Amino acid sequence: MRQLIWLRSDLRVRDNRALGAAMGAGPSLALYLLSPVQWRMHDDAPCKVDFWLRNLAELSHGLASLGVPLLIRRVDTWDEAPALLTRLCHEQNIVRVHVNDEYGVHENRRDAAVERALQAQGVGLQRHLDQLLFAPDSLRTRSGGSFRLFAQFRKACHRHLAVSLPAVGGLPMAQLPLNVVGNDVPAALEGFATPPESLRRLWPAGEIAAQRRLHEFVGNQLAAYAEARDFPAEPGTSRLSPYLAAGVLSPRQCLHALLRTGGFDRPEASAWFDELLWREFYKHILASHPRVSMGRALRTETEALPWRDAPQELAAWQQGRTGFPLIDAAMRQLLATGWMHNRLRMVVAMFLSKNLLIDWRHGERWFMHHLIDGDLAANNGGWQWSASTGTNAAPYFRLFNPLTQSRRFDPEGRFIRQWLPELASLHNRDIHAPAKALRPAGYPLPIVDLPFSRERALAAFKALRRRG
Ligand code: FAD
Repeated sequence: MRQLIWLRSDLRVRDNRALGAAMGAGPSLALYLLSPVQWRMHDDAPCKVDFWLRNLAELSHGLASLGVPLLIRRVDTWDEAPALLTRLCHEQNIVRVHVNDEYGVHENRRDAAVERALQAQGVGLQRHLDQLLFAPDSLRTRSGGSFRLFAQFRKACHRHLAVSLPAVGGLPMAQLPLNVVGNDVPAALEGFATPPESLRRLWPAGEIAAQRRLHEFVGNQLAAYAEARDFPAEPGTSRLSPYLAAGVLSPRQCLHALLRTGGFDRPEASAWFDELLWREFYKHILASHPRVSMGRALRTETEALPWRDAPQELAAWQQGRTGFPLIDAAMRQLLATGWMHNRLRMVVAMFLSKNLLIDWRHGERWFMHHLIDGDLAANNGGWQWSASTGTNAAPYFRLFNPLTQSRRFDPEGRFIRQWLPELASLHNRDIHAPAKALRPAGYPLPIVDLPFSRERALAAFKALRRRG
């Protein structure tokens, strides 16, 4: 009774629900689909695709030690997945395919089409809850709806966790070798440039690397997290997002690492656990409001905002040439490392969508093109939160001032100096908003007047309220 585990964003052997279920049910093979055209349609970043391939190579060793051959197949788009899977199941005498659920619209459509095609051939598709602590339809408001406010969602999660904690799985028992030869993982894929070694070194691949990072963070940095997490020059956050996004690490492994330190809801742990719940929250939002993944605002009335068409300002923002040092340093961090500190993601997103009044969808796309942790739900949720078109509970007029943020969260300009060496010699007092005479040749003047742009954004939002 051969089983197939179809791997997607769950690139690990430990605590992988679909893999555990497949191997518990019978001799198993693993499959991974390279889908370059689909990935380009999703704006997946070259550094992220490289990260997937590097992790897949590590995973193939992990699977081999369990006796599971990894088959690599290529489909340009997921439209080809049903035919490929039915053919493969027929050739390999597979009776059941196991998958861990994903929550995007295309992902759902793909899985439904594959399920129909397999059923017609008498093969089952078994779905597993793996990426999340709670299935999206298992958490409901009193009136049966889905949560749109994080504070309420968080409460519901804590209520559930007080009653039952999701268990963490280990490594499945190895199986007897199958007479099937696995495939090599390609080192690169055309259309996705290999990132420089300096970027790759920041994000070593594999479960061992992810576990090491988790345990170092929980052991050494967790206690200081609530204080340090907003200061981009500090190593204050876990930098686990690429591993969670690719499923090299599971949320249950994070939860249980916290439990081993004394609990997820004690003060030293809860600030970090809340961030894992934000991850959970945005995936629930995506599952219950699929339109957000189709370029639509969660708050539909904000579709009427008069976004500006300002390609030069957009390009200045993208390349880190706005003349606002903190914004420019953050955008350069993104280009060089594939990652940006959370505080700065909020600051640059508000700057684009409010101060420049440029459609948040441009920013969402640029982030996706460059992030190694690019995740549809978290990226969309973060952009819509920042642009006040989504789940932000604060009123639209609470708008970050990038200079105040810079003075508060990078007081000595250490982060700015790291990414804008041309400003390194400036005094702490000047570095956040250098006067014209202090700007080195080539460093631009601010591309927008902050008080004016703030008023322009507020007027645009107020006009929406008048319409509504
Ligand atoms: P930590 O502070 O150590 O948090 C632990 C984990 O919790 C993270 O690894 C991540 O999985 C999750 N998490 C933390 N904050 C958030 C959040 N606000 N929303 C959802 N999950 C969160 N995160 C992504 O994983 N992928 C994205 O594409 C992404 N795009 C974003 C875009 C914008 C505009 C904003 C404002 C935020 C975005 N985030 C995204 C959320 C957050 O910025 C990153 O998860 C965080 O910076 C990752 O760093 P870390 O692993 O050190 O986080």
